Amino acid sequence: MHLNCSKCKKRLTKESLRPVKMENSFFKEYLCEEDKEEDFYNIRMKSGVFTTIKSSKKGWSSKDSGIKGLYQIIKEKAGIFVSEDSIDEAIIPEFKVGYGCCNWNMGQTFKCECNNILGEMYLDCFEDKSIKFYTQSVDRVY
Ligand SMILES: [Zn+2]
Ligand SMILES: [Zn+2]
Repeated sequence: MHLNCSKCKKRLTKESLRPVKMENSFFKEYLCEEDKEEDFYNIRMKSGVFTTIKSSKKGWSSKDSGIKGLYQIIKEKAGIFVSEDSIDEAIIPEFKVGYGCCNWNMGQTFKCECNNILGEMYLDCFEDKSIKFYTQSVDRVY
C-alpha cells in the first residue's frame, strides 16, 4: 500500500507498506554497546509497515489529573502510523527551532505543500520517528 495526498494526489511514501498490528510496529534501538548491556533503548517505528488507529474519545477528569474541577475530553483522530524512514523525505518540512528539541515533536501539524493537513509528526530524538496520517487526508493506493 502507498499513501497519496487526498487533495493534490502527491505520492507520500517511498516504499510499499504492509499492515502490522500496533504491538509489532516498533523495534528497540540501542545507541551503543553499553546501552545494549543495560537494556537502555529508544523505540523506533519499523520501516515498510503501517498500523492504524481508530478514533477515540477519552474523558480526563479531576480524579485522573489531581487538579480540582478539571475535565477534558481528549479526542484521538483516526489515522495511519508510518515510519519516517518510509516517507519521501522531501515532503517533510525543514525543522524550525521551538517545535521540538532537535526535530518536530509531540504531534506537530504535518502539512502537504498543497496546504492539506496530512497529520501529526513524532520525529524528535525521544520519539518513535513516526508520522500519523489522518485517514481522511490520504488516499490508500494499491
Ligand atoms: Zn497535497
Ligand atoms: Zn531531540
